[in-house]
This record gives sequence, C-alpha cells and structure tokens, in this order.
Amino acid sequence: MKKEPVKAKERDSAARVRDFEEVVQVFSEAEALREAARCIQCKEPKCVSGCPVGIDIKTFIGQMAKKDYDGAYFTIRRKNNFPSICGRVCPAEYQCRKACVFTKKGEPFASREAIGIHFLERFIGDYGAGKALRVKAAGDDALSRVKVAVVGSGPAGLCCAGELARRGIKVVVFEGLHKTGGVLRYGIPPFRLPRDILDLEIDSLKKLGVEIRTNTIIGRVKAVDELFAEGFSAIFLGLGAGIPSFLGIPGENLCNIYSANEFLTRVNLMSAHKYPAYHTPVNIGRHIVIIGGGNTAMDAARVAIRLQHMNGIEPDTTIAYRRTEIEMPARRLEIEHAREEGVKFRMLVKPEEFMGDEKGFVKKMRASRCELGEPDAGGRRRPVVIPGSSFEIGCDMAVIAVGLGANKILTGVTPRLKTDKYGDVIVDPETMQTSIKGVFAGGDIVGGEGTVIEAMGMAKKAAGAIIDHLGRKAD
Ligand SMILES: Cc1cc2nc3c(=O)[nH]c(=O)nc-3n(C[C@H](O)[C@H](O)[C@H](O)COP(=O)(O)OP(=O)(O)OC[C@H]3O[C@@H](n4cnc5c(N)ncnc54)[C@H](O)[C@@H]3O)c2cc1C
Ligand code: SF4
Repeated sequence: MKKEPVKAKERDSAARVRDFEEVVQVFSEAEALREAARCIQCKEPKCVSGCPVGIDIKTFIGQMAKKDYDGAYFTIRRKNNFPSICGRVCPAEYQCRKACVFTKKGEPFASREAIGIHFLERFIGDYGAGKALRVKAAGDDALSRVKVAVVGSGPAGLCCAGELARRGIKVVVFEGLHKTGGVLRYGIPPFRLPRDILDLEIDSLKKLGVEIRTNTIIGRVKAVDELFAEGFSAIFLGLGAGIPSFLGIPGENLCNIYSANEFLTRVNLMSAHKYPAYHTPVNIGRHIVIIGGGNTAMDAARVAIRLQHMNGIEPDTTIAYRRTEIEMPARRLEIEHAREEGVKFRMLVKPEEFMGDEKGFVKKMRASRCELGEPDAGGRRRPVVIPGSSFEIGCDMAVIAVGLGANKILTGVTPRLKTDKYGDVIVDPETMQTSIKGVFAGGDIVGGEGTVIEAMGMAKKAAGAIIDHLGRKAD
C-alpha cells in the first residue's frame, strides 16, 4: 500500500488570525522520519534539477531516514546557506517538488503525493541551528588579506557574504535600511518566517566574521568607485527589486491606498501594528481590497485580515485578481492559508478607477469583469475585459500588489553600470560580472522579481566568480 504523505501541522485558522505567530509547525521527529521513508531514492533523482542551487536532495533524505541528521544538515549546507529560511518560504511546489517522481505528468505544480522536501529541509535546518552546527571558515591565508563589499542584505547579499566569508575573505555588507534581511524581513510576515529564525541565520554569518553596516545607502553615502578606493577588491550588488509598480488608474493617489511594499514594510519592519507603542501608524479599513495575485498580495491580505481581527473590526478583506486562481503566481499553500483565514477572492476583475469622499479618502473601486484570452509571452492566459461589465466594490482601504521593479538609487549614479530597459543590472550569465570589472550582481536586481532560492543561486555563482577574480580557485 502507498504511504500517505505527511503534511506539516498548522495552527487553527480561528486562533492564528489574531496574532503574527508562525502558522506551519515544524515536523516532529516521527513525522520527519515517516516522510523521509516515503522517498524511493530514485537512481537519477529529478528533484535536484528542480532546485535552483542543486541540493543533493536524495542524499540528505537518505541520511535523514538513517537518523544521520548531522550528515543531512551538512549535505544541505554544501549548497544552501539558509535551510531554515528556504524550508519555510521556498515555493517548492514550482521547484524541487514539481520535479519529484511522484508529481503527476502535466500538473501545473507539485502533486500532493510529491515528497515534502521543503518540510524535511526545514526540520534539518532547525535541527542544525538548534545544535549550533556550523560550517567553518576555510582560512585561506591569501584570501584573508582581501576585502569584498556586498551591497544589500537580502538573501542574495547574505548568501554571497556567507560564501565569501567561508573562504576566509573579509566581507562588509552595506544595507540601506536600519535592519538586515531585505524582503525576508520587510516583506515576508513573521507568521511565515519567524524573526528569530532570520536573526539566527544572520548571526551565524556574523560569527563567520561578516561585518554589517546598516543605514548605509551605496550611491548616496558613498559611490561604487569610493568602495574600490577604500580597498575593496570586488563588489557584489544584491540590490533587490524594491520599487512598487502601480496600476496607473484615476484615484490611485487617494488616502488609504497603499503600495504593498509600504503597507508590509510599515507592519513587518516598523511594527505599525503595535502603534502607539511604535511610532508608525497604519490605517486599517473595514472593507479592504488587495489588488494582485502573487505572494506579495497574499502576504498583504493575510496581514490586513489579522489587523482587522486585532482591532476588533469585523473582517472583510478581498483579493481582486485579473485572471483565475490557477494563473495566480502565489504559492499554493499561501492561497490556501489566505482562504482559510477568511480572505475573500474575486477573480477576473480589472480595477478601472478608485473613487473617494470629499476629504480625499478612498470609498470605492470601479472595476470591469474579464475573461481569459490567448496565452501571453509567459504562457499565462491574458485577461480580456468584457465590454459593459463595469461594477463597483465598496472599500475604505486598498493595497496595490502588482509587482516590483528596480530601485535606481545606485544604478542611476553609476553610468558605467549597464542596465536594461527595466533598470535591471546586466551581467555575464556565466560569472554574474557586470559591465564594471570587479563588480558582480545577483538576485532580483538582475532577474527581476524571483524567489529567495533563485536569488541565492545567483549569489553563489557570483561568489565563485569573485573568488576566481581574486586569483584563487572557487571550490
Ligand atoms: C511580500 C513578498 C513576499 C515574497 N514571498 C516569497 C516567498 O514566499 N518565497 C520566495 O522564494 N520568494 C518570495 N518573494 C520574493 C523574494 O523575497 C525575492 O526574490 C528575494 O528577496 C530577492 O532577494 P534579493 O537579495 O535580490 O533582494 P531583497 O530581498 O529585495 O534585498 C535587497 C536589499 O538591498 C538593500 N538595498 C537596495 N539598494 C541598496 C543600496 N543602494 N545600498 C544599500 N542597500 C541597498 C535593500 O534595502 C534590501 O535590504 C517575496 C517577495 C515579496 C515582496
Ligand atoms: S532550497 Fe527550495 S527548491 Fe531547493 S530543495 Fe530546498 S525547498 Fe526545494
């Protein structure tokens, strides 16, 4: 008889919507062993090719099944610096699990039967962190005399810093914000990624010798050439995609309309939900509309509905999306969780205009209904407006979550740094080197909005090329 997949336990939705505590619970040892035992140890495991950093999934699960947890931890760490983070946020259903032999052919995402690789990775990541297992610095004498600057402390910057520090290189990370982590801290809410997990991973980098300077915007405080002049031998740019896109429709400037970036940053990074104990207020509407269908939209909706509960407001939060659920780019689990928590979904809806009251506060949104047309360049069916289908949705707060683009603070003052029409930095795909010798880049500033592990994959490649650039062989 086929063994049943083990699903990680989740907190009850009625309780979890009243706080920001983690929703998905880590596997118990017994659960982890049961799930690891389902892996059939394929001769040629396809799951590995589904992982952007190529974790040896078969080996680590085999080690787990034999209770060799230390071995499993170091197998993962050979390829992935932050297993506890990726085990929580990786969209495994589009990546490793989708490639698992148990995923049925032609499915758009992983089948339920696919091995819960991310749950197992999280178990091992937390186990390793709990036991303070450390990957030691290699202590290469020649490298210990060079300094590398990393700009940005998101997953790309942190991963690159970790890889370089492991080889004994002195790394200084410059971060524009007052806290480290990039989207991991200001975007992804703590109920998906607890802050102690993030802090633990960042602390382990500091223990490897990485220095972090916050409140330092490169391109404002100092320029790329000044970093070279200060003795940095190479620079890695992990600037992310921090500028929100808007709909460009009338009324978008009305009060109580936020970009998802601003809304999530205020709450996740500046504790707006604890106002007045913290100094960053955020208005919470009675009828909230979130526009978009990606992870950002799901996070904004789940934060919004929590704030309604916590403020004693009868929850009414609706996601409006132009296509249907199957085309939503968000993680499947997040869509499921949002729905369980009471978020409503209105599909095939295209916003046309926001209308406000006499004081300039949003009161309703006019939208059109859509149907799906031919697939676009990305393969997703295009939404086509149905003529004469206009209708109104009442809302006293809206959050726009329709994408993010490149921030030009650094690129704008560095003309030698070539960018494409979106403002993304152009790199040599083999080395991640930019148009400036010794300057490398990776993560969302190169590929546009992607995933945490994709950003880390690029950063690892860049770290290898930086080591070569410094005249040593990357391992
Ligand atoms: C709300 C939200 C939810 C998401 N959920 C998921 C998910 O569940 N799973 C997943 O895999 N991916 C998710 N993503 C995508 C993922 O977070 C990104 O792909 C990833 O964070 C990109 O990493 P990065 O290091 O390139 O950039 P970022 O994480 O954006 O980090 C860039 C850092 O650089 C700093 N910086 C920028 N310019 C400068 C400068 N000039 N000087 C100094 N510092 C600078 C920024 O302040 C920031 O801290 C989500 C994204 C968002 C917005
Ligand atoms: S890092 Fe992400 S894609 Fe790679 S094995 Fe882990 S969950 Fe899968």
